[in-house]
Amino acid sequence: MGDVAGVAPVPPQILQEEYDVSEGTTAREPLVEPAAELTIDEVRRYSRHLIIPDVGMSGQKRLKNAKVLVIGAGGLGSPALLYLAAAGVGTIGIAEFDEVDESNLQRQVIHGQSDVGRPKAESAKDSIAEVNPLIDVVVHNERLDNDNVLGIFEGYDLIVDGTDNFATRYMVNDAAYFLKIPYVWGSIYRFDGQASVFWPTAPEGDAPCYRCLYPEPPPPGMVPSCAEGGVLGVLCASIGSIQVNEAIKLLTGIGEPLVGQLMIYDALEMEYRKLKVRKDPNCALCGENPTVTGLIDYETFCGAVSDEAADAAAGATISVTQLEHMLKERDEGTRDFVLVDVREPNEYEINKIPGSVLIPKGEFLNGNALGELPNDKPVVLHCKSGVRSAECLAVLKGAGFADAVHVGGGVAAWVSQVDPSQPSY
Ligand code: ZN
Repeated sequence: MGDVAGVAPVPPQILQEEYDVSEGTTAREPLVEPAAELTIDEVRRYSRHLIIPDVGMSGQKRLKNAKVLVIGAGGLGSPALLYLAAAGVGTIGIAEFDEVDESNLQRQVIHGQSDVGRPKAESAKDSIAEVNPLIDVVVHNERLDNDNVLGIFEGYDLIVDGTDNFATRYMVNDAAYFLKIPYVWGSIYRFDGQASVFWPTAPEGDAPCYRCLYPEPPPPGMVPSCAEGGVLGVLCASIGSIQVNEAIKLLTGIGEPLVGQLMIYDALEMEYRKLKVRKDPNCALCGENPTVTGLIDYETFCGAVSDEAADAAAGATISVTQLEHMLKERDEGTRDFVLVDVREPNEYEINKIPGSVLIPKGEFLNGNALGELPNDKPVVLHCKSGVRSAECLAVLKGAGFADAVHVGGGVAAWVSQVDPSQPSY
């Protein structure tokens, strides 16, 4: 208190001086100017921050003035939102269009049982109000797309990304770059996590963006999502808390953030590794001769399915209700075909379409599956959602199985439309 630095714009050299007198020093400028003051309630609430010399009154006032947008209120967004809120970040935006599903509760700790079916953004907002009623929450209950992303991002000091798909991730990276906003990225899969800060427009210069690290998305179908491959729930807390840690450092100007560094976490080995990430001079976005000068078509860029799979699936996709009818005819002996589930064995244990046999996708890619399939009756493929089965269908068509088809929507559609008694995942 007594610090009036937030009343008028403070020249940068003053801010630097302020930090030079504290015990912990930093070479980085804080991202946010301090708020005018903290209320008595705020001083009481944040006292454990205030007595850390590096944070202190000034750091807490910066957090109060900070505007942070969290994309996704899911695995990473849940811990990120809770800790940003508890830390006293004054304005928190939540960009999330999805609804709470029972299968989210294993890791998305910001939601509870009674929130199932509610919009995640609203559920998250309620939890935050319980954790810290002194901050503002802005709900963006809509799917981020090229039409709204820049408008939503504008005005925030920093983006914390908890998305789980590549198309959105590239869009977030590009939008943050165009608006010169630092982007704290995290990613999780099974027992492995990664985090970094992408900020090519940082005052220090020469920092990379997400495209410098991953110039191209992985081939469609090659990298399973958490919905397909699973994720250890607590891994979300490990990576989400690293993201908040980096956000707080950037906002208050303390420590050395993960700008130009990639943090890799292995939960099974309990190992953290840091790798240097250099700016790519040929980066399509932040390089010397950029080719991405505005938002692009990210769905096409990342391709939900490969061209081969899309070609194979064209005219060879059946619905789950068609499949149900076909299975009935097979039971009555008026039709014969083989139904192949191309998922992994542990997925097969969770739910299945009755009468299917399991041959995982890898067996199609290495060619072994071809010998196991009959030549004298049609083959029907399915997976969880229809992406992997389309890839396998392309292999079969290429091997001469002309009448093979796959099931659009996969077992997920089967469970939702035909047999809701089975669990989904
Ligand atoms: Zn770049």
